Amino acid sequence: MSKFIFVTGGVVSSLGKGISGASIAKLLQLRGLKVNMVKCDPYINIDPGTLSPYQHGEVYVTKDGAEADLDLGTYERFLGVEMTRHNTNTSGAIYQTVINRERKGEYNGTTVQVIPHITNEIKARFTPFEKDYDVTVIEIGGTVGDMESLPFIEAARQFKLERGWANVMCVHATLIPYIASAGELKTKPTQHSVTKLREIGLEPDVLICRSERTLPQSMKSKISLFCSVPVEAVIEAKDVPSIYLLPENFERQNLTDLIIKRLNLKPKTKNDGKWFDFVKKAIKPNKEITIAIAGKYAELHDAYKSVAESLNLAGMSNDVSVKIKYVNTQTDNIPSSLNGVQGIIVPGGFGKRGVEGKIEAIKYARENKIPFLGICLGMQCTVIEAARNLAGLKGANSAEFEAKTPYPVITMMKEQKEVKMLGGTMRLGNYLCELEKDSLAYKLYKQENIEERHRHRYEYNTEFVEKLESVGLHITGWHKHTLPEIVEYKDHPFFVAVQFHPEFKSSPMNPHPLFDGLVKAGLRAK
Ligand code: GLN
Repeated sequence: MSKFIFVTGGVVSSLGKGISGASIAKLLQLRGLKVNMVKCDPYINIDPGTLSPYQHGEVYVTKDGAEADLDLGTYERFLGVEMTRHNTNTSGAIYQTVINRERKGEYNGTTVQVIPHITNEIKARFTPFEKDYDVTVIEIGGTVGDMESLPFIEAARQFKLERGWANVMCVHATLIPYIASAGELKTKPTQHSVTKLREIGLEPDVLICRSERTLPQSMKSKISLFCSVPVEAVIEAKDVPSIYLLPENFERQNLTDLIIKRLNLKPKTKNDGKWFDFVKKAIKPNKEITIAIAGKYAELHDAYKSVAESLNLAGMSNDVSVKIKYVNTQTDNIPSSLNGVQGIIVPGGFGKRGVEGKIEAIKYARENKIPFLGICLGMQCTVIEAARNLAGLKGANSAEFEAKTPYPVITMMKEQKEVKMLGGTMRLGNYLCELEKDSLAYKLYKQENIEERHRHRYEYNTEFVEKLESVGLHITGWHKHTLPEIVEYKDHPFFVAVQFHPEFKSSPMNPHPLFDGLVKAGLRAK
């Protein structure tokens, strides 16, 4: 029978619940078990697709085109399991399903209520992987005590009752603050948070205690006594220099064995330690390069989470520490702020704000032969820059770019022109792309057909393809010979821009070929 691990959080948000859950999942996977993860977000938006990056950071895109929380990126990077729409749930989506059912009369005249109708729908979403996976780790977003997350916790309580204690366990992530003036670590917030969790019916089996300092054994014993959790289940989660060190940190405290015993799991292998060794070696690199991410959310690093992680992971595989310089294309001086970098990325984005700076950055990369990777809007800006280069269109107003009359070289996709509704108006998820054999992309991917994830409304207007070939901008990847997916300059050491989002597919020991190529080119440029 499949087993379930709930991960909740207490005291404050941003405790790294997602990373803790992913670490637990990784440890079980390293013992040969099949593990998947589910995220439950308590907000009412149907998905984060329409949320501002200022509120929610990056929108992660799954292969089947779901727009999801960035935690799914963490899950995928840790586990190497491709996420789908079944890995992500919001209160909004759950209520929508129930309300649609009610409108169809499927509840036969009964009063539709949070218990049982909403909680039943939540429970149904805990189990999409039970047939194919040994364990599902379910992260419940928000902080225990929030009104919004109550139905999820109530659903977890019912689920545990139905499935039985032996099949379901609860991990609670909490904070042990250090009070400098007292020179002490404090357990009271954790005690309160566990009390709150019990009040609403869940009993923690494990406490993941986030703290800046080492938890002495006496402190673990105190937490154990007051929170009624066995002392060996009080796990210290001290800040680590790399999130990929966390699994080994947990392993050292015997957390994996504890979970295996508690859920009576049957591990298929021993952990061979290769993953741990890779991470330990990779975080002490001998070389260093700086890559600029030139976008409009330079101050908000979560907006470029997967891009940054893909660079980090490519660095880890190449014995390089990749320092990221976030350049604000709206307010920073370009090109002077790009001086001295070994590579430039213009990432995806929406809206015309900062577009002129992105075009400037691309011009700088092209003219100065700086390794360059353009992503989605970054590819569209590459096409505009080529057009300006060709036609001396320097005065062209970027306002035209994403306004109602798009800039001529970038046009709204035909299918998108007809859709008016908010959300679901984009080309989302995996699409095939065929690579030209004589291209940088082919050299990097080492295969002709690739599949990558998309999230866009606009495309390179193919009326201009021949004209822009004359300034050297070649299309080296196509979708069904009709939609340009990749452009390159050949008289450049490394210049590639793609309509898709390669940043969603990286993991330790498996860096994405484009990021791997960029980091290698950056090293050569040093
Ligand atoms: N805004 C552009 C479009 O819709 C680019 C989107 C993106 O970069 N993800 O096509």
